[in-house]
Amino acid sequence: MARQILVAGNWKMNGSRDSVKALVEGIKAGLGKVSKSAVTICPSYVFLADVQPMIAGTAIGLGAQNLSTEAAGAFTGEISSAMLKDFACQSVIVGHSERRSLYGEDDALVAKKYAVARAAGLTPILCVGETLEEREKGITEEVVARQLDAVIALEGVAALAEGVIAYEPVWAIGTGMTASPEQAQDVHAFIRGRIAERDAGIADKVQILYGGSVKGSNAAELFSKPDIDGGLIGGASLDAEDFLKICCAAS
Ligand code: PEP
Repeated sequence: MARQILVAGNWKMNGSRDSVKALVEGIKAGLGKVSKSAVTICPSYVFLADVQPMIAGTAIGLGAQNLSTEAAGAFTGEISSAMLKDFACQSVIVGHSERRSLYGEDDALVAKKYAVARAAGLTPILCVGETLEEREKGITEEVVARQLDAVIALEGVAALAEGVIAYEPVWAIGTGMTASPEQAQDVHAFIRGRIAERDAGIADKVQILYGGSVKGSNAAELFSKPDIDGGLIGGASLDAEDFLKICCAAS
């Protein structure tokens, strides 16, 4: 089955109201050239209200970078799924490696975030991936399986049909060290195979993005691999021209 390519920009904690507006205008200006990919941008929470009306009526989807597992109440500094819906978000990143490593989010918490997002009608973009140490120890598949299985254990495999998976080797994020298309394809095929053991139809349908130093120059080769269905883009999503090059890389 042909899966749609998705390119999602994770802006992380970057930008100002002015720079974000300029970035959105830049992406919108080049959107006509993007024929094959769906495009989503994930600004910081505080910019959602500015960005949402700017992209309303365009093909650009709006996502957030994180969410709370709680619905409402005394959770200072947190943002709920209902708030994200209120700002017209369609998707939300869960389990980004920066959340896992810097903020102590473990597999169980990430699975809960996946569930909460899904229950609210948001598409969770579930990040999985190994550290360099784990790759060197030869336990990449074990780590990725554990991260994936936490969601399946909580939600059942059917929940994966309503989400997106992003394989992001931690050693490739923001380092300029992209996984080779073959390295990435191997892990993507492993992830799809693991899902297929439970449900072949869902495995065939689920989009698995690659993330980790994707650029205009390497996106086409990565996206040409059979199990790579697009990218989650950090650094290169902060420049409209670079991001658009990636969005145009699907053939
Ligand atoms: C990311 O953080 O999701 C990411 C892929 O970053 P970069 O593209 O900068 O490596």
